[in-house]
Amino acid sequence: MNVLVLIKQIPDTTNVRIDRKTNNLVREGVPAVINPDDLRALELAAQLKEQFGAKAAVLTMGPPQAVEGLRDALIFGLDEAYLLSDRAFAGADTLATTYALNLGISKIEEEFGKFDLILAGKQAADGDTGQVGPGIATRRGYSLGAYIEKVEEVTNEYIIGIRRLDRGIEKVKIKLPALLTIPHEFGEPRYGSLPNLIRAVQYDPKSFTAKDIGADLKKCGFFGSPTRVAKTNIPPDRKGGDIISKNEDPKVAVEKFFEEIKKFEAIKLSDVFEKIVGSDKL
Ligand SMILES: Cc1cc2nc3c(=O)[nH]c(=O)nc-3n(C[C@H](O)[C@H](O)[C@H](O)COP(=O)(O)OP(=O)(O)OC[C@H]3O[C@@H](n4cnc5c(N)ncnc54)[C@H](O)[C@@H]3O)c2cc1C
Repeated sequence: MNVLVLIKQIPDTTNVRIDRKTNNLVREGVPAVINPDDLRALELAAQLKEQFGAKAAVLTMGPPQAVEGLRDALIFGLDEAYLLSDRAFAGADTLATTYALNLGISKIEEEFGKFDLILAGKQAADGDTGQVGPGIATRRGYSLGAYIEKVEEVTNEYIIGIRRLDRGIEKVKIKLPALLTIPHEFGEPRYGSLPNLIRAVQYDPKSFTAKDIGADLKKCGFFGSPTRVAKTNIPPDRKGGDIISKNEDPKVAVEKFFEEIKKFEAIKLSDVFEKIVGSDKL
């Protein structure tokens, strides 16, 4: 089985602050890291290598520095790493991103062999659209298994996985070739072993340009993007709260709490609250 993991390098969002004076994100000096969901996809690829002898590769599209993300990914023991890098890819929205990635995948297949399984994160913590995985599945005509938080069975024909939906979980049988998107709930990724770490440091990922993959420049990057970010804003500060109850009988305090909370529109969205007070009282 041949597996490909798509990873994205993102600014470490735990370190990105909002500067309230300038109302901008402070990104200077913020290190780039592998998107957290993608670490789970890498973990699954490592498990498939161990359990089924799968051959696994990793691909990212990004600036030349994204090589470092690929090296970090190789700590999971994957076989090869590939970079798609070209100025022509800059400023891409999700459609242009999937266009280039899809051609890149076909290029890699020429030397690596056809992929039975492509793994992506559920979403990138910076762009946050969650559209790239489904976009690639569509372009390649693969089955899509989105939000797969557990893999129960793997064969050469299909995968059985558990996916989480808003109102419960669903067990799905996904025919290969398939693309799975992996959420954070998949579980903690492993620490790399020393031999993998040493190999990763010395490894030079193969790099492809737009020309190498035969991309039509009109479909790449900014020019190939049907959407434009017209403006970005920082959300306003939250309104301060009031203390609604102080040092009184807990029963009275709870009653006051329910009275107050009913004034908020958002509470009508809560099933649990509706059960407690009854929908007629909302
Ligand atoms: C309307 C719009 C306009 C944009 N305009 C610009 C712009 O002008 N300039 C700019 O720099 N960016 C721009 N972006 C951001 C950039 O295009 C996105 O980061 C990119 O399309 C991926 O989308 P995402 O971050 O939401 O990823 P998601 O769809 O949330 O990512 C899901 C998964 O897909 C995979 N994946 C995502 N991106 C990559 C990648 N590059 N390589 C390999 N795997 C990947 C990863 O596995 C990831 O976990 C724009 C985004 C949008 C939505």
